[in-house]
Amino acid sequence: MRRDRQAKIVATLGPATSSPEAITELFEAGVDVFRLNMSHGDADDHRARYNFLRELEVAKGRPVGILADLQGPKLRIGQFVEGEVQLERGQSFHLDMDETPGDTTRIGMPHPEIFATVKPGHQILLDDGRVVLRVDDCGPDFATTTVEAGDYLSNNKGLNLPGVQLPIAALTEKDREDLAFALELGADWVALSFVQRPEDIAEARELVAGRAAVMAKLEKPSAIDSLQGIVELADGIMVARGDLGVELKPEEVPGLQKRIVRACRQAGKPVIVATQMLESMIDSPTPTRAEASDVATAVYDGADALMLSGETAVGEYPGEAVAMMDRIMVTVENDPLYDPFSTLPEATSADAISAAARQVAQTVNASAIVTYSVSGATTLRASRVRPDAPILGLTPKITSARRLALVWGVHSVHTEDAQDFADMVRRACTLSREEGFADPGDRIIITAGVPFGTPGATNTLRIAWID
Ligand code: PGA
Ligand code: MN
Repeated sequence: MRRDRQAKIVATLGPATSSPEAITELFEAGVDVFRLNMSHGDADDHRARYNFLRELEVAKGRPVGILADLQGPKLRIGQFVEGEVQLERGQSFHLDMDETPGDTTRIGMPHPEIFATVKPGHQILLDDGRVVLRVDDCGPDFATTTVEAGDYLSNNKGLNLPGVQLPIAALTEKDREDLAFALELGADWVALSFVQRPEDIAEARELVAGRAAVMAKLEKPSAIDSLQGIVELADGIMVARGDLGVELKPEEVPGLQKRIVRACRQAGKPVIVATQMLESMIDSPTPTRAEASDVATAVYDGADALMLSGETAVGEYPGEAVAMMDRIMVTVENDPLYDPFSTLPEATSADAISAAARQVAQTVNASAIVTYSVSGATTLRASRVRPDAPILGLTPKITSARRLALVWGVHSVHTEDAQDFADMVRRACTLSREEGFADPGDRIIITAGVPFGTPGATNTLRIAWID
């Protein structure tokens, strides 16, 4: 079974997509990577979905990627006596560390880091930016603010401090528990929310210890300031447009999306564009034209994958949303104007071989580029050059095959360890045929690092005939 497209689809599982039938429908409609969102649902929900995905993988004979998304330090206000309040623009509103329920004059905000960091003049955004407070005065355990916008506020709403780097760790107590649980399950990717600095990735990497690939969600301005360092340390990146559009202004998100995608393409790290891609399909069977255009733009830009959130987690049309995304992607990829931004090779043999493979495949009209890679590093470099020919990523490591499910243009296959180079070439030819990438008489291009098993040591290119 092969898909007819190069860009990948990530779908979030939730109440609307918990049954085996619903998950199977998503896979068949085109999902390559499934997201378990640790902000919602309990361990039993996630475990049941995880276990079913592994059954599905066997039934379909295709590696399925599973991304566990950690909630991160999502800051929240406390509760109100009446559950909600009406504020008035221009009124003053007090924030403090007091746990007693609040009213129209004050609310508890149990985050001393915030009081230690905010300064008069800073903005505090509540409920995804629907309520805006401006700080007038503050101390170690209080802030007096003026309501600048919005009037309705209810219990436990999230809060954002645009442009302020907070002295908080990227992993909360809950995240550490969720991370241990996700690793115990066997998640292929773990995503860190509200990353602020490269050190946040380093810290998580230490805990993960190679058991999963680490993705950084870019949703804070301070992460954008350290974009280069974060891209270098992470295995993958998510353009988390939901929170990014609150922390920054919505009009800044499109340009940032392009910048982040470009930085990832340059580094050869997979990048997901996420949030509100087909938002109206949560309760409508067709998307708005603006949404269709947004999905298309991300594909034209050369993103590895696009993500569905509420559309598949709680929507009424999860299968339709995936099918729609699939159709838009395929249509873009068949457009002569589609020319994914190509990157210059870095001065490594892996890049020299990958660039050559792309060129040779074009010249001899090869039907596939086959990479053989234990870690997946060779395959990532092949994807980085965005060749016209599909990439068949062979790997003897199932975890590598699953991680590669996220990567542009890669059809990953879990295969046995190759004995030697000749054995690997035979295997590449057989699998190209079996997986539907080549017919007898076709040519394929094979790249690998010889001897096998040294990550990134790609040094060999072979043209082979299928017989
Ligand atoms: P979330 O992250 O769905 O976990 O909030 C994505 C985003 O903020 O865009
Ligand atoms: Mn977010």
